[in-house]
Amino acid sequence: MTEVRINLYSDTQTKPTPEMRAAMAAAEVGDEQRGEDPSVNRLTAMTAELLGKEAAVFLPSGTMCNQIAVLLHCRPGDEILTDRTSHIVNAEAGGAAALAGAMVRTLDGVHGVFSAEQLEEGVRAKSRHAPRSRLVAVEQTSNQGGGTVWPLATLGEVAAVARRHGLALHMDGARLLNATVASSVTAAEFAQPFDTVWVDLSKGLGCPVGAVLAGSSEAIGEAWQWKQRLGGAMRQAGVIAAAGIYALEHHVERLAEDHANARHFAERIATIPGVAVDPERVETDIVFFDVAATGLTAAELSERLAGLGIRIGASSRTLLRAVTHLDVTRPDVEEAAEAVRAVIAEAGPRPKIAETGA
Ligand SMILES: *Cc1c(COP(=O)(O)O)cnc(C)c1O
Repeated sequence: MTEVRINLYSDTQTKPTPEMRAAMAAAEVGDEQRGEDPSVNRLTAMTAELLGKEAAVFLPSGTMCNQIAVLLHCRPGDEILTDRTSHIVNAEAGGAAALAGAMVRTLDGVHGVFSAEQLEEGVRAKSRHAPRSRLVAVEQTSNQGGGTVWPLATLGEVAAVARRHGLALHMDGARLLNATVASSVTAAEFAQPFDTVWVDLSKGLGCPVGAVLAGSSEAIGEAWQWKQRLGGAMRQAGVIAAAGIYALEHHVERLAEDHANARHFAERIATIPGVAVDPERVETDIVFFDVAATGLTAAELSERLAGLGIRIGASSRTLLRAVTHLDVTRPDVEEAAEAVRAVIAEAGPRPKIAETGA
């Protein structure tokens, strides 16, 4: 296999920098599950403050943050309202059903963002026959929506509907800090109406592992019990928490570079015949582009790029997803765009691939 030189597969593919590794090596540690790890305690205090919440808990992954939040908010038979593209629906192995016994009612948002009206229509009237609507979950930014930033006003409108119906609110903030950097809104402002919210350390922030879930002291106290129960309580976890502290101090502002590189990549590939992409829609670090008109499938293009040392994933039959991050430079995205152009040119004219969905 050709060595991967330019990795646009995902912002999960970042490697800890030498400076981050040095911070990890120097970390003060203790027994995390007894609350005695100073680095973990510092990371959770920093994150709670950043998100404007009373308390926070360090967890191994964003998926566990979502699942524990669902467990906090829902009883078996309750319903979660969330966009059809959301991670909870598509990428957590049915955890909401398997662990909390919750159902999901999906909303058909635009690029992962649904409206207050759509939510209003989705909330069930109270009835013995219907599941109980219980939780509204939003993804800031929307991953499968293309890194879309939920506008603060839309979040406020959605939250107002949720409150009126007595529903709990959860924000999957895997890329919340990308939204913050891309807008003039702070993380705490975005998170304000939400009962629970988390940020991922292992995406664009560049840590090897970890995510932090925040909420009221009461919610986080209960989250700790689930963490213990699910086997997420750790020991000398300061080694990994130190990476998170380092990232919050050094890797947030630089997300702007990733956003600029993603936009630049989109602008470059938009000039390639047969490639459909709207650079204006690239608000953060994610670029979806469609290649149906080139006659190549996404998998074929992805494979040919891999042969050139460039990794871009196929997300459906004709759609690819490229994600920028701290291991990808401006020359890298330029080279990747030129490689897309060259592979398509080399394939020559072909009949357009008919839409068959995924
Ligand atoms: C990656 C991701 C998750 C899950 O995070 P992990 O740390 O990989 O478990 C959840 N939600 C969204 C939107 C994500 O992109």
